[in-house]
Amino acid sequence: MTEKSVIVVGGGVAGLTAAALLAYEGNEVILLEAHTQTGGCAGTFTRGPYVFDVGATQVAGFENGGIHDRIFRHLHCSKPEAEVLDPACIVHLGEGQEPIHLWHDSLKWEEERKKHFPGSELFWMLCNQLHRSNWSFAGSDPILPIQNLWDLKQFLNSSRSMNFLTGVFTRSSIADLLWLCSCNHDQHLRKFLDCQLKLYSQEPSNKTAALYGATVLQMAQAPLGLWHLKGSMQKLSDQLLFCFLRDGGKLLLSHKVVGLSKNTNTWQLEVNTHKKLPLRFQAKNVVFTLPPQSLLELIPHTSSGLPKSYRDRLETLSQPTGAIVFYGAIIRRHLPPHCAGHFQLFLEELGSIFISISFEGDGRAPIGQATVIASLFTDITSWSAYSRLEYQQRKDLILEKILKVLNTQFAIESKQWLHKELATPRSFARWTGRPQGIVGGLAQTPTTFGPFGLPSRTPMKGLWLCGDSIYPGEGTAGVSQSALMVCRQLMSEDGRELTLMK
Ligand SMILES: Cc1cc2nc3c(=O)[nH]c(=O)nc-3n(C[C@H](O)[C@H](O)[C@H](O)COP(=O)(O)OP(=O)(O)OC[C@H]3O[C@@H](n4cnc5c(N)ncnc54)[C@H](O)[C@@H]3O)c2cc1C
Repeated sequence: MTEKSVIVVGGGVAGLTAAALLAYEGNEVILLEAHTQTGGCAGTFTRGPYVFDVGATQVAGFENGGIHDRIFRHLHCSKPEAEVLDPACIVHLGEGQEPIHLWHDSLKWEEERKKHFPGSELFWMLCNQLHRSNWSFAGSDPILPIQNLWDLKQFLNSSRSMNFLTGVFTRSSIADLLWLCSCNHDQHLRKFLDCQLKLYSQEPSNKTAALYGATVLQMAQAPLGLWHLKGSMQKLSDQLLFCFLRDGGKLLLSHKVVGLSKNTNTWQLEVNTHKKLPLRFQAKNVVFTLPPQSLLELIPHTSSGLPKSYRDRLETLSQPTGAIVFYGAIIRRHLPPHCAGHFQLFLEELGSIFISISFEGDGRAPIGQATVIASLFTDITSWSAYSRLEYQQRKDLILEKILKVLNTQFAIESKQWLHKELATPRSFARWTGRPQGIVGGLAQTPTTFGPFGLPSRTPMKGLWLCGDSIYPGEGTAGVSQSALMVCRQLMSEDGRELTLMK
C-alpha cells in the first residue's frame, strides 16, 4: 500500500469512472465489484439472442462538452458509438390527448410545447434561463455541498458563470415557477411535468427543486440531447473499464465488500469472494459508490465506527424508490411501422411507465426482432415482506398488467411475445447489491438537492462517496459528474490537481 493507493467499491458507472480517472492520474487503484460483471444499473444481461439493458436505456452527456465526452477525451479514449434520440421520447398522458414529442431540435420542441401547452411560454423561458445558468455552472465542475475552504474555492470559481436567477430560486420548486408564470391551473402541463420529473428527481413538480427540474426538463434538446448507445448500455462500462485496465488498474470481480473499518490512517475492507473466501484489503482512500445507506450495515457500531450524527443522517435520508422492469422480445413487424425508441405512458392504475424499444441492428436483438423494456416505480417497503407465494402472485399480476398496457399501446397479441420476464426490487437488490433494491438515488427536492444534499466527503477521513445519491444526482451523466468531483477532492488532499478540458 502506498500514499496513492485507492480502493473503489462498486463497478457501476460511478465506480468505473472514478477508478479510470484515478488510475489515469497515476494512483494505485483496485476496483472491487460484487457481481461477475461491471455496469450495475447501467449494465446488461443476455437471454438467448437478446441483450437487455438492466436499468438505464438512454444517456445524457454524450454531446461535445458533455460529461461523458469530457471524461473520455481526458482519458484519451474514444467514446462508445451513440446516436442522438429524436424524438427522445413520446409522452402519452392518456385521456384521449395527443402524444407529446420531445424533439431534439429546440425550435421544433418550442412548436410542440405551444401546441400542447398554450400560454406556458413564460414558464419555459424561465426554465430556459435557469437551465443555462445551471448548465454553465455544472460544466465548470463545481463542488457541492461545500465542506471546506478548498470546496468553497472551487464553488466560487464555478459560480462566476451563474446568473442571479439561480440565487433567487434556490429554495423554489417547479410548481412555484408554474405559479409565478400563472400556469399553475394548466392541468395538462402539470401532468406532463409530474410525469417527466418523476423520471429524474423521483418527485412530481411540487416537490422537485426548480434549479434541478429546469435542467432535466431540457436534457433532450440541442445543444444537449439524450443518446442511444450502439451495441448496448454495457459499452459505456466496457470503455471505462478498458481505460482503467490500460492504465494499470486492477479489477476484482465477484469480490463483495462485507465490512469497512478504520485503523489509524488506513481503511480495512473485509471482502467475500465467490468461493466464500474471506479476504482483507487496505488502502488510504476508499471511494464508495453504493447507496450511502449501505454504510449502516458495513461499518460497525463501535467507537471507531460511523459517528452517531452521521449514522443518524444516513438513517433519516428520504425513502428512495424501487423499480419494476419488464424485459420482452418480439418480432419487429408486430410493432407499429417506424416505431420510436422511447415512450412514456401515464396510467391511473400504474402511474408512469417508461418504455424503450431497441433499434434495428443496434446489437440488442437479431435483425427483424426487437427488445422491449418497460419500467415503473414501486414502493420498496412491501416487496421485502412478501412470502414466496405472495411474491410470485404479485409478480404475475404486475406482469399481466404491464403486458396488457403494451399489447394495447402497440396492438400486440399476447402470443406474439418471444420472451417476457419481470424484475422487482428483490431482483435489483440481488443484481446491484443496493439495499432492498432501492434505485435512482435521493429525491431532488428544494431542501435536499445540490448545496443541501449529502456531501461526497464523509466525517471519516479517507472515505469518499459518489454515485446517484451524491450531487448532481442520478443517471449515468450524474454519477460520472459525482465521480469526477470526488476524484478532484481526493487528489487535492495530496496537493494534486485534476482538471478536465471543457
Ligand atoms: C429501471 C431504471 C432505469 C433507468 N434509466 C436510466 C436512463 O435511461 N438513463 C440514465 O442515465 N440513468 C438511468 N437510470 C439510473 C442509472 O442507471 C443509475 O443512476 C446509475 O447507473 C447508477 O450508477 P452507480 O455506479 O452509482 O450505481 P450502480 O449502478 O448501482 O453500481 C453499483 C455497483 O456496486 C456493486 N456492488 C454492490 N454492492 C457491493 C459490495 N458490497 N461490494 C462490491 N460491489 C458492490 C454492484 O454490483 C454495482 O455494480 C435508471 C435506473 C433504473 C434502475
